[in-house]
Amino acid sequence: KVSAGPDKWSDNFPIANGPRQSPIDIVPGDASFDGGLKPLKLKYDPSTCLEILNNGHSFQVTFVDDTDSSTLTDGPISGIYRLKQFHFHWGASDDKGSEHTVAGTKYPAELHLVHWNTKYASFGEAASQPDGLAVVGVFLKIGAENANLQKVLDVFDVIRAKGKQTSFANFDPATLLPGSLDYWTYDGSLTTPPLLESVTWIVCKEPISVSSGQMAKFRSLLFSAEGEPECCMVDNYRPPQPLKGRAVRASFK
Ligand SMILES: [Zn+2]
Repeated sequence: KVSAGPDKWSDNFPIANGPRQSPIDIVPGDASFDGGLKPLKLKYDPSTCLEILNNGHSFQVTFVDDTDSSTLTDGPISGIYRLKQFHFHWGASDDKGSEHTVAGTKYPAELHLVHWNTKYASFGEAASQPDGLAVVGVFLKIGAENANLQKVLDVFDVIRAKGKQTSFANFDPATLLPGSLDYWTYDGSLTTPPLLESVTWIVCKEPISVSSGQMAKFRSLLFSAEGEPECCMVDNYRPPQPLKGRAVRASFK
């Protein structure tokens, strides 16, 4: 694989060393409870679910975002943010894979639900604004098989190679959320180039479950395109970045 990893990104994207980079290590004892933080309001319409795509660094499920049908409101943000896509990061083994860590603890995977602020004209325009994006992060923890997640994994054979995509209709991303929507929030960035510092991060405290067998299925995807030497899609996470004095707030005591 020719492309260089996270330690080389600063060569082409100097913002990699910027003041509000993500992910971070969340230290619960250092997070301050903020009673002014509202509960998250996630309103998702399964009919806006469009397709699933292997983009060569993860796979993503994309949503129609030309109306306010699937939105995130309240929580730490103001205004209406529309769901654009969700994707995951994961490791080569069950002891690593999440981008955020909690007091140094790594989870085997992390789900990112990406929303953009409708005060801007499009996702593309919002992606470079300080209040342009809001990403809900959900940790995956080894446990019982997750039947809702299985609906996603069942199409992996079709999108195994880079560039493959297929329609993926009528999926409700709310089925991937944990029972409790208690969260930590901080100002951060995209975790892949161009690493823009435009993300209000909302990281759920409670993980969802995934079986070890389901984690193995994630690792059956390929970074490589059809006809290229096969290269398994694993360790597609960026490690924690310096906090640089930022506040991490908690919606819970
Ligand atoms: Zn991500």
